[in-house]
Amino acid sequence: MACVACGGGIAPKSGICADCTVPYVRGWCVAPRQEQLEALIDAYKFGNARSAYVPLASLLDVRLPELPADVRVVPVPTVSGHVRQRGYDHMLLITKRFAKLRGLPLDTALDRRTATRQRGAGKRQRTEQAKRAFVLQGTLDPDATYLLVDDVVTTGATMKYAAKTLRDAGAQTVWVASISYQLLD
Ligand SMILES: [Zn+2]
Repeated sequence: MACVACGGGIAPKSGICADCTVPYVRGWCVAPRQEQLEALIDAYKFGNARSAYVPLASLLDVRLPELPADVRVVPVPTVSGHVRQRGYDHMLLITKRFAKLRGLPLDTALDRRTATRQRGAGKRQRTEQAKRAFVLQGTLDPDATYLLVDDVVTTGATMKYAAKTLRDAGAQTVWVASISYQLLD
């Protein structure tokens, strides 16, 4: 698998390559965003194909190893405007189903602070937006392991700052999983 932080390199067992310094200790990045997976994600996010959360959750279920019972599944929250546009919260649907398949609790304490637009933004802008994007509603169990789940890793900034928000709120162990990574030219 590719490095979950940058989508490149050859990741060791942790899923994080030697070039990446991140606030999480373990990660999985399932597959590049291309061919059928790209078509499925695009249909799900931009083509109103709501039911695509089912195969996308299954893909995570098939590709991730067995997880300890103290793992809590956390969706990377979606910009509220996008949820309104789609009529569904795409990461919430996927993570709910994945958590159910694994018999793990879902934790939705992580929230978006502002409506930032990421599509089309440059790397620097994305990083600046991601830094301020997240806020925690409620409290975390410092002894639990939080597994952040997103659909696509592009620069890794979203995952990084989402994980940092959990760490700053007291989570000692954060893992991440992304269904796909964007191949950059
Ligand atoms: Zn990396």
